[in-house]
Amino acid sequence: MTKTFDQLGLSQPVRQALDLKGYSTPTPIQEQSIPHLLDGRDLLGIAQTGTGKTAAFMLPSIDNLRDADNRTPFKSCRMLVLAPTRELAGQIAESAREYGAMAGLKVQSIVGGTSVGKDRNKLHRGTDILVATPGRLLDLIDQKAFNLGSVEILVLDEADQMLDLGFIHALKRIVPMLPSDRQTLLFSATMPGSIKELSKNYLTDPVHVSVTPAASTAERVDQYLIMVQQDEKQALLEMVLSGRYNTPGELERVLVFARTKHGCDRVVKKLAQAGITANAIHGNKSQPQRQRALDDFKSARVKVLVATDVAARGIDIPGVSHVINYELPNVPEQYVHRIGRTARAGKDGIAIAFCAEDERQYLKDINKTTDAEFERLPLPENFRAVVEGVGPTKPAPKQQRGRVQPKPKSGGPKRKHTSRAGRPNRGPGGGEGGQGGGGKPAGAKQGGGRNRRRRGGGGGRPGGGGGGGGNRAQG
Ligand code: AMP
Repeated sequence: MTKTFDQLGLSQPVRQALDLKGYSTPTPIQEQSIPHLLDGRDLLGIAQTGTGKTAAFMLPSIDNLRDADNRTPFKSCRMLVLAPTRELAGQIAESAREYGAMAGLKVQSIVGGTSVGKDRNKLHRGTDILVATPGRLLDLIDQKAFNLGSVEILVLDEADQMLDLGFIHALKRIVPMLPSDRQTLLFSATMPGSIKELSKNYLTDPVHVSVTPAASTAERVDQYLIMVQQDEKQALLEMVLSGRYNTPGELERVLVFARTKHGCDRVVKKLAQAGITANAIHGNKSQPQRQRALDDFKSARVKVLVATDVAARGIDIPGVSHVINYELPNVPEQYVHRIGRTARAGKDGIAIAFCAEDERQYLKDINKTTDAEFERLPLPENFRAVVEGVGPTKPAPKQQRGRVQPKPKSGGPKRKHTSRAGRPNRGPGGGEGGQGGGGKPAGAKQGGGRNRRRRGGGGGRPGGGGGGGGNRAQG
């Protein structure tokens, strides 16, 4: 039986913040992690975003920080959360502020692509919780503007993506600067050898928790496939987004994935020519541009976001009704991450893959790796005419310009949700349900004297200052 937040042992201020957020029941990863983390144990969590993992590590950490009652350290922090992308870091910091609203803890975040000077100033007096991308953190440490001598809790979030993005060297520099009696939490969506290695090096007798294996994310997503020539994908996308294709489900917010940065920009430009407003988000955009694109999308001011895989992982955008794979990813796991941007927080979602002849192999790999069940949809009946007659950049009918609200028309494929028998037709926004689910602890261990001692015994820690220089010598 699912426990309540009260039964997990969280403090009153944290529970109050949860009430404000409207969370009534812990998600599986929260239920499995929180008691161990309150006990001070290290933790290895296999979980993706969407499972509630941010709260799983943030809530007990806030209580542990409150219990230890150490001062906010000068030019340092008490809890360090490292995240691979700027978007994820921003999102974790926002959650930390909300969850810790009643706990009186200071939260800051620093990410690349913004002013280093401003970061230096805001960290001068230290902070309780710091969420950072590794590169920017090292910049500040190298400038002697920050040190890690007071860190009580380290969280490595989306560790597999951190390694994919080449942050291993940064981690190898950062982790040895931390006090060795810290509590360490490592979260990763997958468990390749490199992550096992990290956990062996950085964690002490960790509790193992695993929820939502990659394949099960896909179970809540209705997956459709349209075979279409590469150079006709733009025309198809425009028909889908402007409501000239009887797309399954109500198009509320659509995340479109393309493979390259230029590809994203091209799609957005051509959509604009067709009267459809969209933003692009990828690595060539400045941080303010990326943030604006995300904010526009989250507030539904702009209902179409065209992204490279930068947006596929980590960021939490509630209410994405459709994910369109304009181009299929060549790494099957990436497909799962992409479609996982819909079906968030217990909701269901719709994914549509545009597959060209030369992407068939990718499709096969996706099928094999993820057991994806695709329902094949036909091209629109008048597609040839649109492509050959008017061309792929034909503007949408005037009344539909810039809108993403298709009205079903006769002649398109029948609207149906039959890929899983017995499932109700759902509009995006319907179907609340258990979070990210079905998890089970993978061999949770008992014990952990080191950390229990910390929890019970006042957690004495070097009181800040100290300087990164001395610590770095350990590395
Ligand atoms: P995360 O996996 O941390 O990115 O969280 C995914 C989403 O679930 C976020 O929008 C959270 O606000 C939401 N969430 C986290 N925990 C709960 C909960 N116990 N009940 C309902 N929603 C939650």
